Amino acid sequence: MRIDLHTHTRASDGTQSPSELVHAAVAAGLDVLGLTDHDTTDGWAEASTAAAEVGLTLVRGIEISTRHLGRGAHLLAYLPDPTYAPLDEELDRILDGRSSRVPAILDKLHELDIPITAGDVRRASVGTAATGRPHVADALVTLGVVGHRDEAFRRFLNPGMPAYVDRYAASLVEVLRLVGEAGGVPVLAHPWGRNGPSGMTEENLDELAGLGLAGLEVDHQDHSPEDRAALRDIAGNLGLVVTGSSDHHGAGKVDHELGCNTTAPEEYDRLMELAATSARATGSAAEPPSVPPAPSS
Ligand SMILES: [Zn+2]
Ligand SMILES: [Zn+2]
Repeated sequence: MRIDLHTHTRASDGTQSPSELVHAAVAAGLDVLGLTDHDTTDGWAEASTAAAEVGLTLVRGIEISTRHLGRGAHLLAYLPDPTYAPLDEELDRILDGRSSRVPAILDKLHELDIPITAGDVRRASVGTAATGRPHVADALVTLGVVGHRDEAFRRFLNPGMPAYVDRYAASLVEVLRLVGEAGGVPVLAHPWGRNGPSGMTEENLDELAGLGLAGLEVDHQDHSPEDRAALRDIAGNLGLVVTGSSDHHGAGKVDHELGCNTTAPEEYDRLMELAATSARATGSAAEPPSVPPAPSS
């Protein structure tokens, strides 16, 4: 059974529609797909319909942008109740913060004599709930200012670069609580990112586990083989679920093909048990994955 628990669509910064993603997942030989757009559940309905048609198990999730210890931290929330108002309101604040910084980014790019307009960004962000830096980056590619999205981030949009603008940051600790209250299960996405172990220590992660963190995304393209081994040990010590995912963005991110990393079936089962327990504890309205897994091949 092939399980990929972290992917994006045009509802955030991927390049595929939710149903295109579902069909691509089937073509890639996946049995279980986690849909985790940034800070939005907008892709869930279309993806659920498409998944039911093709017999793919869809795990509805959100990758929530938070901050912890002065750095950005992405939290994957699986199967939260989308109607739980405090979580929904926090997602709105995050999305507003993301869109409202775009004009400020454009101002900074204009100061650098780059003639990008709000219309250019709008055309790069058709269908998304969260216009943000990736769409500014795509517009810069279209304008020929940079060759690809990564270059736009490296030269202009990352912290410390000339067109970077800060925005509202949700607290990781607060979001962990909200996801739990919404009957969801929180897994830390790419905990060490490209920073390696300097990102978060075992002590930091232990503290988060005490606050409800259920798992670590160990197998991610941003983690070296050494980092994966070290994180796997930490997860074992702390009793955290180990996941692996592609973080697929369609054509929006190179080297993140569907299924390039996967989650072990027994770890997936642990995650779904935790989701069922969390939903029962909160009386959450979130449904379990809608379609039973296809027989393993
Ligand atoms: Zn992420
Ligand atoms: Zn992601």
